[in-house]
Amino acid sequence: MTSIKKLSLHESQKIAAGEVIDRPSHCIKELVENSIDARATAITIECIQAGKVSIIVSDNGHGIAYDDLLIAYHRHTTSKINSCDDLQTLTTFGFRGEALASMCAVARVVFITKTAHDAHATELIVENQSIISEKPAARSTGTTVNVHNLFDLVPVRKKFLKKDATEWNHSLAIIKSFIAQHLSIHFLVKHDGELIFNCPPVKLYKDRLSQLYGNYIEHYLQELSMYVHEGIHIEGAITDCRYGRFDKSALYIFVNKRLVKNYHLVKALLKGYENSLQPGKFPAAIISITLDTTVIDVNVHPKKEEVLFQFPNLVDKAIANAIKETLLKKERSQFSPAIISEENATVSVVVAPYDPIIQVPSSPFIEEVSLPPISFVSEKEVSKLSPSFVNVDDANISEQQSYAVSFAQPEYTFVGIYKKTYMMVEDKDGLLIIDQHALHERILYDKWVMASESFETISLLFPVLFTLPEHEYEMLQPYLQLLYQYGLHFEQQGPSLFSVTSIPVFLKNESFENVIKEIVGWIYEDKNIAAENLYIKLTDKLRALIACKSAVKAGDILQEAMITFLLNTFYNADFLTCPHGRPMSWRLSVQDLEKKFKRDYLY
Ligand code: ADP
Ligand code: MG
Repeated sequence: MTSIKKLSLHESQKIAAGEVIDRPSHCIKELVENSIDARATAITIECIQAGKVSIIVSDNGHGIAYDDLLIAYHRHTTSKINSCDDLQTLTTFGFRGEALASMCAVARVVFITKTAHDAHATELIVENQSIISEKPAARSTGTTVNVHNLFDLVPVRKKFLKKDATEWNHSLAIIKSFIAQHLSIHFLVKHDGELIFNCPPVKLYKDRLSQLYGNYIEHYLQELSMYVHEGIHIEGAITDCRYGRFDKSALYIFVNKRLVKNYHLVKALLKGYENSLQPGKFPAAIISITLDTTVIDVNVHPKKEEVLFQFPNLVDKAIANAIKETLLKKERSQFSPAIISEENATVSVVVAPYDPIIQVPSSPFIEEVSLPPISFVSEKEVSKLSPSFVNVDDANISEQQSYAVSFAQPEYTFVGIYKKTYMMVEDKDGLLIIDQHALHERILYDKWVMASESFETISLLFPVLFTLPEHEYEMLQPYLQLLYQYGLHFEQQGPSLFSVTSIPVFLKNESFENVIKEIVGWIYEDKNIAAENLYIKLTDKLRALIACKSAVKAGDILQEAMITFLLNTFYNADFLTCPHGRPMSWRLSVQDLEKKFKRDYLY
């Protein structure tokens, strides 16, 4: 028979502490917030084994006075409020006085701290909520808190911690958001002895984005035009529409200095770009919104990431306008017609002395020199233009033949190709305009949905090296077999270093690294859906990706054979959209034309 027992205060506090601090990233968040509250201008964050073994946050803030130190690790001890009335005027992060107490309940915590008035620093070690050692120590004014062996005292909690890479990923997201927000603080971040970030203070938000995402991003950055309207004040920095990431992880939105996760605000941000971003791509941005606390409530969510506004539309509009204005200003100030995505901008690390010998030639169906739009190029001419290392286009030819045998010859007359993109065809129902890329993409996609075999690959003579953060590799782990099946083979060479051993034939000259990054982006975006559903979704996205990369592009000049193949396939199938859901064709019926030219009255 079970009997109800009252837990000791000590035990129940441990359980409650686990609610406040449930993973290393929460510890980091609380410690860094304390450092910021202590007016620190330099903060160092150092983790060992994703913070499971050690989290050390060190600052040059005002330190903790000796008497305060002796009680700071107890619950509900805070220097930030005296009574509930103070909550209205609070400008600090912390006020509950729970964080240090919770850490001391679930780990061994070492404090070393000194105020400007102290002759020397004090080291205090707390374990299981009691002081186990106290001695003088050496350090300049400020505080170091070292949280050792998190959850060793609470094994059930420890069990719920994820792999190092996943935990570190969570922590990095938090750390980056602090760096993005606090421009005047020098942040230093280390993991397992490796320097991850060194970010001295900066004046502009755009410089923080450069520090976080690499100098190459600089060209695409623009400081946000200051927006002040109806008590809403917006500042920050954004990338322009030439830059595109595969995920939303570089979007930082702060409301009154707190990071918020709000779907509407992200939507408003994207709206500011007015469809100028490439589909499926996201910008990098820091948006800092300041508004009157009477119109928002930031304490709705216990972790304070959700935010509710009294007038949400006003805030959405303000964000969209600020972005629109900023982009317009940049457009006016520089002439930059080229669309450059992150794929083109990222320099992939190629350590091999030569380019890989496998340079997949461009398709003989496609001619890239400038010719009048509706002319065909003979195969002979094309073969002169294409390098002849490996003829991967055998694959395209066989693709063409395998369709050709089953075709009934449809009745249509090919009229021409407008803007090297839109195939125009006349048939009995009128004029049909077909997007050449969307159609080829659809054909390839459908072929791979039907095919059960693995993808053809090319082995590289000289391996191409690329870097991938450990935590991203960790995210890919459950899907490696799937990637292999689609011809994406790579091997780990060292921490964060990988070599490509073979590539899918169809990927042509695409950067392998970018393809992998795109896949990581998908997983990141869908990390909350069930594993088996994600597997299915990834399979489908991979097919669509490979179809997209392999298909003829807008602007490619097609050979006669390719045009015939595409159109015959089109007339023998039942296509409506490309694999991404974009429309593929548009019909101008005889009736519509006659109506337009007012010829219908003749009948
Ligand atoms: P809260 O931040 O909610 O007040 P905490 O448990 O996080 O509660 O911290 C308790 C108190 O310890 C703080 O109110 C502050 O006075 C002091 N403290 C903690 N960390 C630091 C630090 N890095 N520098 C100075 N004082 C600190
Ligand atoms: Mg605190």
